[in-house]
Amino acid sequence: MTGLSDSFQRPINYLRISVTDRCNLRCIYCMPEEGVSMMSHSGILSYEELYTVAKAAAEMGITKIRLTGGEPLVRLGLADLIRMLAGIETINDISMTTNGTRLAKFAAELKEAGLQRVNISLDTLRPERFRQITRCGNLEDTLDGIDAARKTGLDPVKINVVVMAGINDDEIVDFAAKTVSDGWHVRFIEHMPVTDDDGEIKLVSVSEMKNRIESLGRLEPHKMEVGNGPARYYQLPGAAGTIGFITPVTEHFCYQCNRIRLTADGKLRPCLLSEDEIDLREALRSGAPPDELKNLIKEAIARKPRSHHLAEGRAGNSRPFSQVGG
Ligand code: SAM
Repeated sequence: MTGLSDSFQRPINYLRISVTDRCNLRCIYCMPEEGVSMMSHSGILSYEELYTVAKAAAEMGITKIRLTGGEPLVRLGLADLIRMLAGIETINDISMTTNGTRLAKFAAELKEAGLQRVNISLDTLRPERFRQITRCGNLEDTLDGIDAARKTGLDPVKINVVVMAGINDDEIVDFAAKTVSDGWHVRFIEHMPVTDDDGEIKLVSVSEMKNRIESLGRLEPHKMEVGNGPARYYQLPGAAGTIGFITPVTEHFCYQCNRIRLTADGKLRPCLLSEDEIDLREALRSGAPPDELKNLIKEAIARKPRSHHLAEGRAGNSRPFSQVGG
């Protein structure tokens, strides 16, 4: 196996698979209140089809897979897919991004199937605010999911917080305190303006976040051992957990982008924030040989842009993140 790289010499070893566009929450920055039109069931790739793509990608050099959505845990039998993916010899890292609301029920089964680690999205620690941000969810469900994931031995469990000025930025210190009191790994993520309504949501700069967090003690840089993603990590004195900052807008990390994305309806996306897509579903359903699939994967990688244009106010993303696995 030779390994993959794009036209900017970035090694590509990471495939993100959105297994469904459906979600049981309606987060204010991710989905419009009225919802979005859903993909038809027949339009969504079956587990067999997802496996076929993953296998072809693995044979080309993909070694890491993350499952996302929509909410991956609203798709029935997800552990079956994980088991299939875990059977691909050269895939050595299987992770998932979830809102955690159904993890208490499924964590043990997923771990047993081969899931190694999870990122759990949680933007507030306050029940009332949780309901407002998600428009329908219960904080308790996600907290139970976090507990279950940690007890089951999914490791690490990272908590992803999208920071929005005037909406949840008054909880930055509360989340940071959880890294000391409960050993949480918390990552603060800049909100990305991708839909027309999003312009209203304002960023909080990393330096401002650090200032506030340092009311708890001095932040020391920290090196994370698992998941060498785009976050910069720190630790508070006495904390077992870590604090990460992810800055897709103010300081993008496209130069180290190692990923391609597969949407639930079978489109390969070279970049989260570009409309460019390569259709794999047609090839899969017309019985194309593995080499043809591999050529399409190569093409998607060749079409990866150098960077996105969020900082200039251009998202270039024609679909909500619920469809492309934000
Ligand atoms: N349902 C799962 C979840 O909640 O993690 C997976 C899908 S969700 C689209 C993946 C991640 O994208 C979540 O952490 C969510 O907070 C993030 N996200 C969605 N829209 C975003 C935006 N406009 N800016 C930054 N992050 C966003």
